[in-house]
Amino acid sequence: MAFITINQDNFYYNLKQIALKIGSLDKIAIVLKDNAYGHGLEIMAKMASDFGIKHSVVHNYSEAIKIKHLFKTTLILGGEVIPIKRCSYVINSISHLDEIPENIKIELKFDTGMHRNGIKINEIEEALSKIDNNNLNLVGLMTHHRSSDELTSEFFWQEKQFDEIKKFIKNKGFDSLRVHSCNSSATLRKKFITDDIVRVGISAYGYNELPKAFNPIKLKPVMKLYAKKVSSRIIQKGQRVGYGADFIALHDITVSTYDIGYGDGWCRGDSLKSYITPDGFKILGRVSMDLITLDSDQEEVCIVSNAQESAKQFNTISYEILTALSSNIIRYLL
Ligand SMILES: *Cc1c(COP(=O)(O)O)cnc(C)c1O
Repeated sequence: MAFITINQDNFYYNLKQIALKIGSLDKIAIVLKDNAYGHGLEIMAKMASDFGIKHSVVHNYSEAIKIKHLFKTTLILGGEVIPIKRCSYVINSISHLDEIPENIKIELKFDTGMHRNGIKINEIEEALSKIDNNNLNLVGLMTHHRSSDELTSEFFWQEKQFDEIKKFIKNKGFDSLRVHSCNSSATLRKKFITDDIVRVGISAYGYNELPKAFNPIKLKPVMKLYAKKVSSRIIQKGQRVGYGADFIALHDITVSTYDIGYGDGWCRGDSLKSYITPDGFKILGRVSMDLITLDSDQEEVCIVSNAQESAKQFNTISYEILTALSSNIIRYLL
């Protein structure tokens, strides 16, 4: 069976780099959404909590109930709002404030320029009166950057908008709210973090997505993906491999199938631009649902050792490679 290894030392190394950068371990909120970026929600939550991380961020209620006992706070980014202790929900639109039960802890997300989700700046007063009328418990203010990993001034412009919102709301008498705005790239990029927490995902899993000139902090990938050999054969010059017979042997070679495919969340890609594994083996022909064929006869082959590198081959990003991996693949903690 294909399997994933999780390197605890590397995870802790990354958390330490982030803590050193922001000057505090207590300010880290580990983003565990989407099965902890494919690493395994419960394994990563437990390790983060053992390391001393106090705050977490998840995608929805069903993720929150599995891990909330490990953290002081858990922020739930979306989905149905169901009362749950120690957790707060992100409010993504003004109408959302009329749809949720009383006394729920909420954090207002402001649209400072990403124009994806969030309350608009001219809706602040309306939002505050809805919170009052509907007896909701406002505990935080947040925003999200659209281009923290790009060399533009947009980042600072969004920051300025958020500063004004914070000032306005605090002046209304809300003075014990936590504020947060930084994802990994913003956290690694900024000189001083004045926010109460940072929401870090990809950096904790080992990837610095900033252009190199920006921030040279080196992080270590936490996950590796391996597949096991199913069968081997020698194919002769001119014989073809797999569906659609896309691969033609130019000489006699040994090929083997390995037990990972698009059904496991591995990218099907383009058989004419073959994926090369970290050890230099090549996927021959098309990826099947549960199998690939490689020019190897090793018992076990590493398929991904650095998701950023793998992503380049598919013209995508590390996030997509990682989160796509099925939760059915067994995860071993190293
Ligand atoms: C996913 C997410 C993050 C984490 O982003 P990274 O780039 O992985 O650090 C932070 N904040 C919000 C709102 C998110 O959805």
